[in-house]
Amino acid sequence: MTIKQRLADIQQQIQQIPHPQEVTVIAVTKYASDEVLSEVIDAPILNIAENRVDQLLERQTRYPQATWHLIGTLQTRKVKQVINHIDYFHALDRLSLAKEIQKRANKVIQCFVQVNVSQEATKHGLAVEEVVQFIEEIQKYDRIKVVGLMTMAPHTSNDAVIRQCFATLSALRDHIHQANYSHAPCQYLSMGMSQDYHIAIEEGATHIRLGTTLVGPQ
Ligand SMILES: *Cc1c(COP(=O)(O)O)cnc(C)c1O
Repeated sequence: MTIKQRLADIQQQIQQIPHPQEVTVIAVTKYASDEVLSEVIDAPILNIAENRVDQLLERQTRYPQATWHLIGTLQTRKVKQVINHIDYFHALDRLSLAKEIQKRANKVIQCFVQVNVSQEATKHGLAVEEVVQFIEEIQKYDRIKVVGLMTMAPHTSNDAVIRQCFATLSALRDHIHQANYSHAPCQYLSMGMSQDYHIAIEEGATHIRLGTTLVGPQ
């Protein structure tokens, strides 16, 4: 199947899920070849995510017309290389990183705060209870705008557990959104990957990050 066909299939599935919110499909091309990436652009899918700084920079130079999302942990020392070349950052998870972004950014950076809802030791992100305080602490950094929250569901085949994770993030987003922080409108929810995007959309996802099912080998 071509990327175009896979996208059409996914869009059809999304339409069958009851949801009031608009959903942006982000193609996660971290494992995709350059050939596949060019198919993605032609499909067209113009929201693209990478988790490695070098690969993002190289590809962003070739396709500046796309909207570029950086996902995955960002080392503080790499901030200055990449931060002014992306449209969205999905992994803001610590004060030291916020401070470095403030120092290196020459525009306002649209960030998702990453939350480790499931509290798995292998995952990055703030605990649910830490998020409000974190958002208040970064108010002083005027180069950071918190546009939403991001999470990854736990590794499990138990749909109820996955749903609970997404529902928790959604409630936290509502809470922050309603607080009306000028630096943190927090209107978006980046959650849902190939295996669980149906559940994520039902729970309010506005941005789903699809690797395997959209651009992976099949
Ligand atoms: C790799 C990755 C994805 C895509 O995962 P798939 O299961 O292949 O869809 C989404 N989000 C993050 C943060 C990733 O690292």
